[in-house]
Amino acid sequence: MTIEKRLGQRFLPYGANYLRWPDMSELRQAVESGVLFRYQTESDSMATRLERQVAEQLGVGHVLAVHNCTEALRLALVSTRPRTGDPVYIPAVTFVAVAGAVLSTGLVPVPVDVDESFALDGSLLPPDARRVVVAHMEGSVAPLPEGVPHVIEDAAQALGAAFPDGRRTGTRGWAGAFSFHHNKILTSGEGGLLVTDDAAAYAVMRCYHDHGSARVPGRYPTWKEGAYYGENLVTSEEVAAVQLQQFRHLDEVLAGLESHYAITAQELPERRDLALLPRSAGDAKTSVRLRLESRELRDAAVALLSARGIPHWTLDKYFLPEHPVLTSRNSLYADGFPWNLAGDLPQAVSRDGFARTRSLLDRTLCVPLSPELPEAEQRLAAKTLRQTLEVL
Ligand SMILES: *Cc1c(COP(=O)(O)O)cnc(C)c1O
Repeated sequence: MTIEKRLGQRFLPYGANYLRWPDMSELRQAVESGVLFRYQTESDSMATRLERQVAEQLGVGHVLAVHNCTEALRLALVSTRPRTGDPVYIPAVTFVAVAGAVLSTGLVPVPVDVDESFALDGSLLPPDARRVVVAHMEGSVAPLPEGVPHVIEDAAQALGAAFPDGRRTGTRGWAGAFSFHHNKILTSGEGGLLVTDDAAAYAVMRCYHDHGSARVPGRYPTWKEGAYYGENLVTSEEVAAVQLQQFRHLDEVLAGLESHYAITAQELPERRDLALLPRSAGDAKTSVRLRLESRELRDAAVALLSARGIPHWTLDKYFLPEHPVLTSRNSLYADGFPWNLAGDLPQAVSRDGFARTRSLLDRTLCVPLSPELPEAEQRLAAKTLRQTLEVL
């Protein structure tokens, strides 16, 4: 089978390739125990094991498993104890889940320009910014703004990446959120984690995520006098079991990505109209990001890769200033909540009406990397990509 065929056949991203039945001992154990609810017993649940494992592996004080990263972001935002209608500064380039998380907690998203590598440009934040979501897009580590009390790191696409000081993404801000959606570095179909070093915030998060209760595992929940309301964001044992299996492969996934990245970067053709977007040492190398000279050339490359069945994507979908969720300012609430609270908040923070951000996106093309391939096949894939880009 040609490498194109093999790559195009059934593209599975990252951790999904490591889901192998003989390796699912935790899942088997969870099912055999007959208990898939994490708080059914006082003894260690899969979810508790997962949280402990992640705390150790990522080096963070507290970890809470929830259903997905969007919930993790919502939980982080509400745990900052905001006033409804408060602004939250978010990157102009990220998945719309970030805007949805902000709005659904009664807050107002304000998109901010990004830099060359799609990191929120902290230098543009107003001095009174209190809540900022920074997203580590495509595994690349974004710098965190200084002096903001609540920096929430969206590390959905960057599990295991590390800042220059060695600390892991998601663990340096006030809180960090991770995703186990199918397309992410590790997967359980859906799944999310919220992490923080702030013990008091963790207590609030844990309480809110379980109906506002002060539950002791193995018992019916109890509510303290003055309890605030919550939701049910409690994870399931079978999901935590799959996540534990996935975490056993994290270092292997990251090493496989690193290898494929290095091979691909070396193979890229020398063209003046095409450049590799730089990555830093600590990035999780989920893709090779190419910057082309023009939108036309980028679109031609997209057509060529599609014709040859080589997996690829653009980041156009992440341009929030033109996303219908933000432009429409619609809401299911009859009074337009929370947009009706936006008042004279800035609608966006940009140097040039997002012209530069738009142009960067227009010229960017991502080719995913395959950590699971043996080195020889990674070389073949890199060669195929080179040959395709050469005839562009
Ligand atoms: C996938 C993703 C999310 C949402 O994660 P879910 O687990 O699907 O809710 C949020 N932010 C970014 C940057 C993402 O890529």
